[in-house]
Amino acid sequence: MLILVINSGSSSLKYQVRDVDAGEVLLEGLVERIGQPDGDAPAAVPDHGAALEIVAARLHEVLGDRQVDAVGHRVVHGGERFAEPVLINNEVTRAIERLNPLAPLHNPAAVLGIRAITEKWPQLPQVAVFDTAYHRTLPEKAWRYAVPDWLYTRHGIRRYGFHGTSHQYVAARAAALLGEAPDEFNGVILHLGNGASATAVKGGASVDTSMGFTPLEGLVMGTRSGDIDPSILVFLGRQGLDADALDDLLNRESGLLGLGGSNDMRTLVDAAEAVGNDDGTSSGADPLRARRALEVAAYRLAKYVGAYHVAVGGAQAIVFTAGIGENSSPFRALVCEQLGALGVELDPELNAVRSKEPRFISTEASRIPVLVIPTNEEQAIAEATAEVVAG
Ligand code: AMP
Repeated sequence: MLILVINSGSSSLKYQVRDVDAGEVLLEGLVERIGQPDGDAPAAVPDHGAALEIVAARLHEVLGDRQVDAVGHRVVHGGERFAEPVLINNEVTRAIERLNPLAPLHNPAAVLGIRAITEKWPQLPQVAVFDTAYHRTLPEKAWRYAVPDWLYTRHGIRRYGFHGTSHQYVAARAAALLGEAPDEFNGVILHLGNGASATAVKGGASVDTSMGFTPLEGLVMGTRSGDIDPSILVFLGRQGLDADALDDLLNRESGLLGLGGSNDMRTLVDAAEAVGNDDGTSSGADPLRARRALEVAAYRLAKYVGAYHVAVGGAQAIVFTAGIGENSSPFRALVCEQLGALGVELDPELNAVRSKEPRFISTEASRIPVLVIPTNEEQAIAEATAEVVAG
């Protein structure tokens, strides 16, 4: 089955065509600057419909007469309703649209993508795969904030969690690597990319996760602060910062960037290694600030691992995934160094291996195995789409 996977942003459209049965990517690409004028000239790609024409031309060029069987959309917010991938119809599209206030940057873009496809290929089945869906199994004690009830009843203010497609995919593969049935797997999954979240998986289901009402909560991320004392916002509000300034500050200027001067893990690790060098040279970022950023991020992450080990009643594995989790052996080492109390012991040689395969990076003596499992959200979306369409 050929699946077109679409990830719509407000001004971009990322796409991939996958042959699900063969597990192959047939083509992929990105249309950018949608609706954005080019200096004085009007936008070359005025809207998502125009972007889709570009995708259609590529499809024809690469696939010839082969037709795509269905489209899978990445949708960030499924609210309380969507606990799994669903076949899209008008009512579902409107339901996704009603969630716009909860994901003002992402859901409107997904709806634009869905409507553009409906217009161009009305007969093509479309499936929505939600970032929040895997976390619908969180027990109420984990999703409630300790605030007055009306915040939840009137505004939907509760913890939703994100990165669910990745956490679910990685949890299933971790179970397979351990030889465990997927619905009996207990573990802690660490999705560490530019956005980062940890998920506590018990019996194969998400029982807690570090992102909350929005993706801002939880870990130290590339440019997001993660957990902070909310009174800081009140304080800054009284200093005159408005909502947009606070949004920028915490979502785009904080995290590794705010602490260390870069949101790129490689830059920070290179810079931190220069601490104590005779000539003090580094690749750009200030060595002391870089080291501080890494230490704060790793410490905060290690605390979440401890907490989630408790939440799942004893983890069978700690699993690293996504850009940093899959590639940064120094950062993985910095985190695992702090997990001695859990009996975690990293094997430096295994940790240094570079590979695209699921693998162990802990010693045989480690009380909890540590794994690296490459994530693949597009593949997960394509497989889920094929399943919904077939079923
Ligand atoms: P993602 O959002 O999953 O694409 O991950 C982006 C993050 O992964 C960035 O912080 C990158 O610095 C980091 N990253 C990607 N490749 C590497 C690498 N080879 N070593 C260290 N970090 C990496």
